[in-house]
Amino acid sequence: MKRINIFIALLVASLLFSVNAKSEEIKPTKNVIVMIPDGTSIGVYSAARWFKLYNNLGDGLMIDPYITGTVTTFSSNAPIGDSAPTGSTYATGVLQQTGNVAIYPEVSNNDIFEVDASRTYQPAATILEASKILKNKAVGLVVTSEFPHATPADFSAHYYARGNYDVIAPQMAYQNLDVMFGGGNSIITDDIIKHFSNNGTTLIQDDKSSFLNYNGEGKVWALFGQRALPYNIDRNPDKYPSIAEMTEKAIDLLSKKENGFFLMVEGSQIDWAAHANDAATIINEYLAFDEAVGKAMEFAIKDGNTAVLVLSDHGNSGFTIGSARCPGYDKLSIEKLFETVSGIKLSANGLESILIKAEPDNIRSEFKKYTGIDITDEEFEVLRSSKNYRETDYTKVGTSINLAHNIVNILNAHMCFGFTTGGHTGEEVIMSAYHPQGDVPKGHLTNQQVNKYLQKVTGIEIALQELSDRIFVKHNSLFEGLNHSIDKTDPKFPILKVKKGKNTLELKAFSSVGKFNGKNFDIGSVVVYIDKNDTFYLPESLKQKLQ
Ligand SMILES: [Zn+2]
Repeated sequence: MKRINIFIALLVASLLFSVNAKSEEIKPTKNVIVMIPDGTSIGVYSAARWFKLYNNLGDGLMIDPYITGTVTTFSSNAPIGDSAPTGSTYATGVLQQTGNVAIYPEVSNNDIFEVDASRTYQPAATILEASKILKNKAVGLVVTSEFPHATPADFSAHYYARGNYDVIAPQMAYQNLDVMFGGGNSIITDDIIKHFSNNGTTLIQDDKSSFLNYNGEGKVWALFGQRALPYNIDRNPDKYPSIAEMTEKAIDLLSKKENGFFLMVEGSQIDWAAHANDAATIINEYLAFDEAVGKAMEFAIKDGNTAVLVLSDHGNSGFTIGSARCPGYDKLSIEKLFETVSGIKLSANGLESILIKAEPDNIRSEFKKYTGIDITDEEFEVLRSSKNYRETDYTKVGTSINLAHNIVNILNAHMCFGFTTGGHTGEEVIMSAYHPQGDVPKGHLTNQQVNKYLQKVTGIEIALQELSDRIFVKHNSLFEGLNHSIDKTDPKFPILKVKKGKNTLELKAFSSVGKFNGKNFDIGSVVVYIDKNDTFYLPESLKQKLQ
């Protein structure tokens, strides 16, 4: 308990002193870009720099001139979080539990700070929603995962379980995003397509040249692949855009908007490669993200009215240059440490898909072709005997019995990188920032303080909690005294029906289109339904409809 008190005291002290002695003076910028290299631990930056130097790929990283401090990210009841609560706290300022997406958490026995039970399950308004609703800005998301994955959902949807794409994907579609680039064609429903035709969203699917040539004024979604995009190291550049290309395109389209924009870019799969303990892919995936950072910084500096904040959401895998498996590693040359990783041309998953199809006689030569590594007899036997074990869950590639995991083990046996786990870790993450007047966050921050900074730099006049209380009011209190009922004919998408006199209001869960006496109207924000308390959360302005 004493330790917890000291920790809290330290957090409070950093809240008071380190965010910004002159936090009141942060000048809002017209445009705000947040970039999240998901699950990137500090060792990844170090390895990526050495990798660039060894391969003559230029000097340092794009983030290097902009590193301003570190951030401790955590969930409401644990020092280690996943992308759902950690990204959600950046987006909303509210600490949440594992799996929560932009929502007030349940109370638990281990809460680090007091959790307000009266708010449990209330959706928490995000900086993206505030930019759109309060500042009339254009909003966009760029990711390499499928679009409803945790981090993009953190900014644009609300639910207690990140995996429920059935309710997260429609919320993202009904947010009327100006730009959404990423993966997930198989998740697009007929209802989403219908909404896009109603709200004028162009949907580009698996068509890179249409995507690159798109220059329209309206909203646009461009999706590639059934689920996630391939890892950058496995990517066919004729079919799939890089994260830098998507970022550049998003900025190009959003920067034409009169009132400015909010954009979140996620390097989604650095985290996945870290879960898999796949060193070459971690480095390659980070460098692809770093190139996107270069595009954003280039725009921001030229534009003169754009702030950029780059920070990971949590650590992953305890990645280090140097491993106990590798005696004498601390005396090794740059060649010995970086030659092998520089010769690997595919991710472990990419290599898996080749070895699964390979005749046993060709396993050695195929392995050598894509990695430069001559495998031992023992390693050959491991590959041959695990040939048919495929792991589809990216969080388990590093730990379960599967071919990709065995490939990773062989790769790592030939290199000197260390991993402590196939899961997330709790150390602080690196923060980089650019602001035209130099009003960047400095020192050590908590994830809640990052959100405070975003609120200030976006120029939002009211607190996000106040916005939550405007757009996410419980239906029972909003329509108290009126005749209302919940139609659960479609159990996934219940409809709240409210009657007053001759007027009927119909509000469908996870949509932003309501019906007033049978006629569609734009609600202005998404309607969230939580089954756990059988409650709709709705904007207070809806009450006027029935006045
Ligand atoms: Zn993860």
